[in-house]
Amino acid sequence: MKIGIMGGGQLGFMTILRGTYMGFSFNVLDKTLNVPSSNTPAKIYTFEQYEEFYKNSDVITFEFEHLPIEIVKYMEDKLRPSFENFMLKQSRYSEKSFLSKSGFPVPKFYIASSYSEVEKVIKENNFIPAVIKTTKLGYDGKGQYYIKKLEDLEEIKNLNEEVIIEEFISFEKEVSIIIARNEYEFKTFPISENFHKEGILVYNITPAKIDEKLKREIEEIAIELSKSINLIGIMAIEFFVYKDKILINEIATRPHNSGHWTLDGCTISQFEQFLRAILNLPLSSPQLIKPTLMINLIDIKKPDLYEVLKLNNSFFYWYFKDRKKRRKMGHINILLDNDQAIKFYLARVAELVDAVGSEPTVR
Ligand code: AMP
Repeated sequence: MKIGIMGGGQLGFMTILRGTYMGFSFNVLDKTLNVPSSNTPAKIYTFEQYEEFYKNSDVITFEFEHLPIEIVKYMEDKLRPSFENFMLKQSRYSEKSFLSKSGFPVPKFYIASSYSEVEKVIKENNFIPAVIKTTKLGYDGKGQYYIKKLEDLEEIKNLNEEVIIEEFISFEKEVSIIIARNEYEFKTFPISENFHKEGILVYNITPAKIDEKLKREIEEIAIELSKSINLIGIMAIEFFVYKDKILINEIATRPHNSGHWTLDGCTISQFEQFLRAILNLPLSSPQLIKPTLMINLIDIKKPDLYEVLKLNNSFFYWYFKDRKKRRKMGHINILLDNDQAIKFYLARVAELVDAVGSEPTVR
């Protein structure tokens, strides 16, 4: 079985490493050959070679949304999740409109395509504070502007593209769930609590501390949503918890950063479950092994492995990427004995990150 993955980033890299253990072969399609997945047994193809990539793959999937649409369309008959699922994320507007029309809870939003339209919407509706997000190519906090007062609109004076203007949610928590679905069953993973800084996930803790009622509501939304989009694959759903209610912030029909903890803290990783789902193999029931802290290593050199692994029950992952501002270079999973340990580990990892000479990203 040859599995083609569009996108050569860390999500594909970890999927390939897991799938190789299971006897699968992989092809990867990306803009360049210099991608994390080139450090795996996968054969890498560039976008110019998409026909060959298609021919040599039995099943095709994606680990990244920002791919040339015509190329993804070409793969359609072998594609899992579907081309429609892929298209859902091509614009934040189509994603939010779909969710809202289908009755899923989302923050209030408007669409605009020029500065004057944004100004008009905000003034006429007294829509402040708000978050402005470019509808295309936005991830990890890219293309986002926080408007807390009218003067902040200055920042987007030169805006010349479509944006959504979203109600600012003063959330108590951010949580996410991952669900996998094949043609005959679905399974959800334990819910994680996520901590972002400037739009980037810095660390997460699983299980999230939320009450049973909220947990059930989140699971039900995951199940309903996966059915309503006919998901075959894996999907992450990010939520804001706000006054005991939940609102969906984003979805992604691929493995997700908030699921990296499953590599060590869960009986099955999101990467294996993802492969099982797209290949229509039996899914495993994810069970928490131990509460887990996942810390992203953002924009740093490789830390001292001895110091990292000295932390009890810690596991280290490195994606072979060139260092760049705000870039996720690797992550650490730490299985926890108690809640007190969280603060200690966050502080310890922040020190290690300082020690390799970058801005401390964990606070
Ligand atoms: P996104 O790229 O939409 O996932 O946003 C990245 C992060 O920005 C989220 O995880 C939140 O921490 C923050 N954020 C996004 N939208 C909102 C909002 N409407 N209100 C408050 N915070 C937000």
